[in-house]
Amino acid sequence: MGTKGREIVGMDVNHVLDLLNKAFADEWLAYYQYWLGAKIIAGPMKDNVNTELLQHAADELRHADMVANRIIQLGGTPLTNPQQWFKETNCGYDEPTDPFVQRILEQNIKGEQCAISVYHKLIQEVGLKDPVTYNMAVQILQDEVEHEEDLQALLEDLTMMLSRTAR
Ligand code: FE
Ligand code: FE
Ligand code: MG
Repeated sequence: MGTKGREIVGMDVNHVLDLLNKAFADEWLAYYQYWLGAKIIAGPMKDNVNTELLQHAADELRHADMVANRIIQLGGTPLTNPQQWFKETNCGYDEPTDPFVQRILEQNIKGEQCAISVYHKLIQEVGLKDPVTYNMAVQILQDEVEHEEDLQALLEDLTMMLSRTAR
């Protein structure tokens, strides 16, 4: 990146790069978890949920792009091998082995809650020492907060429907 742009980062750039590559691994795994979940999902409301999952998958891929661009801008290299994703991830990968809507929603809600914690921590740690990374993390956090809310609303509707049918 530009020398001045790098110079204004008031903290260890390699540390920022480590944090960013961990978030980068999370985004790819989240993308795949959503993408596959959307394909295999089964049960009531599956069409509504499918649409939401696909939108979120697209958002996670866009996040991976944003994080990769910042890594490169800081003079780093985004993880070059997908095998590193599992070593570096904060939030892991929740394999969608059960295609039932409720289970898929619960798994992805758990993932979003982890993502919210990760970006919240990143924002607190980086603060104004690296305002560009800070701004990017705030933008991503806004999406993750919205993702959690969307999935919880769907799960609420589904739970209500299932409890009515059970009566
Ligand atoms: Fe994301
Ligand atoms: Fe998300
Ligand atoms: Mg949404």
